Amino acid sequence: MTRKLFVTTALPYANAAFHIGHMMEYIQADIWVRYQRMQRDGGQERQVHFVCADDTHGTPIMIAAEKEGITPQEFVAKIAAGRPQYLDGFHIAFDNWYSTDSPENVALSQGIYRQLRDAGLIVTKTVDRFYDPVKGMFLADRNIKGECPTCHAKDQYGDNCEVCGAAYQPTELINPFSVFTGSTPILKPSEQYFFKLSDPRCFTFLKEWLNTPGRLQPEMVNKVSEWLGEAGEKLADWDISRDAPYFGIPIPDAPGKFFYVWLDAPVGYLASLKNYFDKNGLDFDAFLKDPDAEQVHFIGKDIVSFHLLFWPAMLNFSGHPIIDKLKVAVHGHLTVNNEKMSKSRGTGISPLRYLELGMNPEWLRYYLAFKLNAKVEDLDFNGDDFVARVNSDLIGKYVNIASRCAGFIAKKFDGKLASELSDNAKAWIAKALTVDGAERQVSIGAAFEAREYGRALREIMEIADVTNQFVDENKPWLLAKDETKVAELHEVCTVALILFRQLTIMLSPVLPQVAARVAEFLGDAGHTWLDTQGEAAYNSMLGRSIGAYSHLMQRVDAKMIENLFERPGVATPAPNPASDAAPEPAAAAESVDAAPAGALAAPAAADAIEELAPEISIDDFAKIDLRVARIVNCEHVEGAGKLLRLTLDVGEGRHRNVFSGIKSAFKPEDLIGKMTVMVANLAPRKMKFGISEGMVLCASSADEKANPGLYLLDPMPGATPGMRIR
Ligand SMILES: [Zn+2]
Repeated sequence: MTRKLFVTTALPYANAAFHIGHMMEYIQADIWVRYQRMQRDGGQERQVHFVCADDTHGTPIMIAAEKEGITPQEFVAKIAAGRPQYLDGFHIAFDNWYSTDSPENVALSQGIYRQLRDAGLIVTKTVDRFYDPVKGMFLADRNIKGECPTCHAKDQYGDNCEVCGAAYQPTELINPFSVFTGSTPILKPSEQYFFKLSDPRCFTFLKEWLNTPGRLQPEMVNKVSEWLGEAGEKLADWDISRDAPYFGIPIPDAPGKFFYVWLDAPVGYLASLKNYFDKNGLDFDAFLKDPDAEQVHFIGKDIVSFHLLFWPAMLNFSGHPIIDKLKVAVHGHLTVNNEKMSKSRGTGISPLRYLELGMNPEWLRYYLAFKLNAKVEDLDFNGDDFVARVNSDLIGKYVNIASRCAGFIAKKFDGKLASELSDNAKAWIAKALTVDGAERQVSIGAAFEAREYGRALREIMEIADVTNQFVDENKPWLLAKDETKVAELHEVCTVALILFRQLTIMLSPVLPQVAARVAEFLGDAGHTWLDTQGEAAYNSMLGRSIGAYSHLMQRVDAKMIENLFERPGVATPAPNPASDAAPEPAAAAESVDAAPAGALAAPAAADAIEELAPEISIDDFAKIDLRVARIVNCEHVEGAGKLLRLTLDVGEGRHRNVFSGIKSAFKPEDLIGKMTVMVANLAPRKMKFGISEGMVLCASSADEKANPGLYLLDPMPGATPGMRIR
């Protein structure tokens, strides 16, 4: 059988731009989808449909649009126009992005409602609601303000106090007033429509549905079971109607009544799928009835009640067959440096700012994936941890393999890999790709399937560790100097690149762009998970001609992280007036000049740089001996205002002492262990504090006022102490 997957993320509310928490959920789902797309069921490509939509209805959007003097439709269109730069920017590959304000959603929502009504699960009740007598409309909780009944703070909303945090009914506010007219609201009876969740049929169904194995994480089953009560006594009817004026979908046969936004929002999953199927000539109804179809929702823990009580009950009693196939994957929240994200505390991260800083989206994908598991746990974005994780795993372990070995294949072997391998080479490949006789790709694949991405990546990095051990033991850079070791060099580099390809294939759900570049470099049309099985791991690589290697990924510079956090009072790019209350600047239609990562930056204006020095010949340049140096130690110099004392290793079997006037720009502890570039043949100079045996190189601006920064040169990963710069 061929698995047929319908995968969704929560629909974002269309009143603001995305924040980093949205990106986490999309990345989590996108990795799972990309893994599924690499699978073959009986030779057939697995069918995966990955869709989302803007959640557009409700009072907040109505108010925001009114403030801007535009229609709600225009408002949500503006928000929708701002979505692609985020999705493309982080390589989130939805098949379809749609809207709940769509004909498909109207038809599906009204259809579901009619079915529920015919099943006797819709009831009407008369309830007292606040009403603005001047504007002539019923008021939602957030359309009413007044004095907090608990702490007496003025100007608080009708549902909770932003000063003391108390939650209350709007009727409890002291001196309530309508936000539209300032008039005192009156209580007016209104007939409302309820979904009868208290019906015993709902309890019977939900209990069985929740407890179906594989449907949900066990902690979610426990949590939602508590909400049901022993015999359903805790299930209360759900008010699904709102009075006009309301931006939403009209309730059939109920003039002036609209569906509450949370009724039609999850129907938006189906509406987006239907829209996608119709555009592509696929049969929507047949898919819903297909016994092989599965629906997988990725959602956050804050919207569980809607997705695990109302939504399954709605689907079931309106006869949607896909209810039997519905699985829900709940994730925790993203915190930043162990705090709830907040711009005012400087812990907000704007995804657009991340891209604008030139930070690689795949760093974030890797970092979040490394921290994600299948549990409903919060996960923390920690700046230092991010730098360390990305630099150590992606650069130090993974990219490093190719950057140390690919050059020799191009230079010495005309771009061609060895056409056979010794038993020793095969043994190393087996050592890297198996553990206790079992292929690692099996457990890595199982971890991706189970959304245990952290576990998958730890195992993948174990393969990288063995590969690096192999390269370190065989030292291709030494073999390359010995004419009698040509065949050995060829084999070592071939093995390293075979394992590099395996690592790339297994990392490709997480690093799609790097994987595409590696596929091109190695001459692969693309990768499927089958390419990780058995001898496919190396057979197809033997004797193959490969392309030129170009560097795949830079290290994270810790300075980027400092600039990443939104500081209170710091202007963010292109703020949108609609998003005053949003945690993020809405990008919406006014596009922000975010160069996509990897795009070429515009050249700096000519007058912005220092005038060039007079021309020299290559011989002049050759007189200067520049070497890669490792900063073994770095410390302050007592009594010196500007100097740091550097201890450098230039591969000479001794250390050099160098004084450098860079104290204003660096903390000694930040430099220890870093690689840099030094002038190694500068005559030693006696200084007040000792002898300086060379000079390290820094970039700086001619206009120190405009940019006082000093930037120490940092060779790309793979450079080792003593290498000459030529
Ligand atoms: Zn209060």
